[in-house]
Amino acid sequence: MERYLEKVLEQIKEKNNSEPEYLQAVDEVYSSLSSFLSKHPEYEKMAILERMAEPERIIMFRVPWVDDNGKIIVNRGYRVQFSSLIGPYKGGLRFHPSVNLSIMKFLGFEQIFKNALTGLPIGGAKGGSDFDPKGKSESEIMRFCQSFMTELYRHIGADVDVPAGDIGVGSREIGYLFGQYKRIRDAYEGGVLTGKDIIYGGSLARKEATGYGLMFFMSEMLKESGISIQGKTITISGSGNVAIYACEKAVQMGAKVVAMSDSNGCIYDPDGIDLNSVKEIKEVKRGRIKEYALTHPNATYTEKTTQDSPIWEIKTDIALACATQNELTLNSAKALVKNGVIAIGEGANMPSTKDAVEYFIDNNVLFAPAKAANAGGVATSAIEMSQNSMRFYYTFDEVEKKLNQIMINIFNECKDAANDYGQKGNYVIGANIAAFRKLSQAMICQGIV
Ligand code: NDP
Repeated sequence: MERYLEKVLEQIKEKNNSEPEYLQAVDEVYSSLSSFLSKHPEYEKMAILERMAEPERIIMFRVPWVDDNGKIIVNRGYRVQFSSLIGPYKGGLRFHPSVNLSIMKFLGFEQIFKNALTGLPIGGAKGGSDFDPKGKSESEIMRFCQSFMTELYRHIGADVDVPAGDIGVGSREIGYLFGQYKRIRDAYEGGVLTGKDIIYGGSLARKEATGYGLMFFMSEMLKESGISIQGKTITISGSGNVAIYACEKAVQMGAKVVAMSDSNGCIYDPDGIDLNSVKEIKEVKRGRIKEYALTHPNATYTEKTTQDSPIWEIKTDIALACATQNELTLNSAKALVKNGVIAIGEGANMPSTKDAVEYFIDNNVLFAPAKAANAGGVATSAIEMSQNSMRFYYTFDEVEKKLNQIMINIFNECKDAANDYGQKGNYVIGANIAAFRKLSQAMICQGIV
């Protein structure tokens, strides 16, 4: 079976050699499956690994729009419909200048496993554009979203493919996308997008769900090792949607968050981060995190000058990586371990490099992997879809309770799969095997399609 695994990884490398993030994501999952695959020799004949790594469909399209000065700009749009094995394609849209096919495919691949872990009927997809929303006016954002949807609409639908937000796509962008979709289709199909504002079909607690879910998973993982979250110090990279609501739940659970960041640098506040200030800077003014230090005399700001974020140099019990892929390197992992970190939680997708993950596991640091720990967002999107179908709203408490239970279930699935394959406490392997097991069974049931 080792030979089959190696052969497939080699083929995938050859076929996609200009896509490093995608290869990294496939390697991370597949190289953890050998104990599972050795019990399933029949998988080779059925080409399960080959089929799982090939997207069902990739759509790439031109997104032309006109800026406020009358200049015509052309961006590139993507939708990678990776797998519809267990439900309609589902996954966010990312607007960021770094977006390319490799990043879209890595995110789509991750999404199929994450969505399988939620236990809900959703397939996996990802999309977005190399459009940079930073510094754009409100009307430029709207025109871009309208142009993007003018192509995307023909590929999506409540039972086909349901996009949501991701980096650079929040409820404002979802609103403009939904408005354009509705205008083109001339029908109110609420379930076609999730992350909508609550006044026109969104779900209470969707905005909070990824960050809250991360903390629910973290709390279960610590509990399993007899550790309480109460009184623990936490550092959180990023200051976007996931980071802000992870911070909010961490404080509600009795922990103290002392640092947050953005792509330019990080703030450290020994008194504990004043989250209302961060929300004002990031959610309202759409400003930079360094502005925080101007109004908080005990806080300090450190500019990011190398690939390694300064936030990981700060002593902490728990570190939450909630910004972007590959933001936590081996160097940073070494700094965190040296400073006595107990647990790492991945709120972002693939935020830790492979050698960093291995370093944490080798040093007995509890590790909550992204595809399990940040699945609360997409799980709540699925709850939004079901509310849209029922034409009904749950209360905030009802959604939060469901989310908490889903995160507990995901943790238990990861724990049990790790135990089943002799890897007690290794939730990285547990998450990969639990999700792969489900998806491969669905693939076998559905034949060669
Ligand atoms: P936001 O756009 O709300 O926030 C992103 C944050 O990350 C910002 O603080 C941003 O800083 C920072 N960031 C972005 N790119 C970089 C970079 N290259 N280097 C350093 N910092 C960077 O996005 P989200 O909070 O929604 O998403 C964050 C992560 O969580 C992503 O990996 C996303 O895929 C993942 N995720 C999100 C879910 C959701 O429900 N939103 C669900 C599951 C996963 P700056 O302002 O300077 O750009």
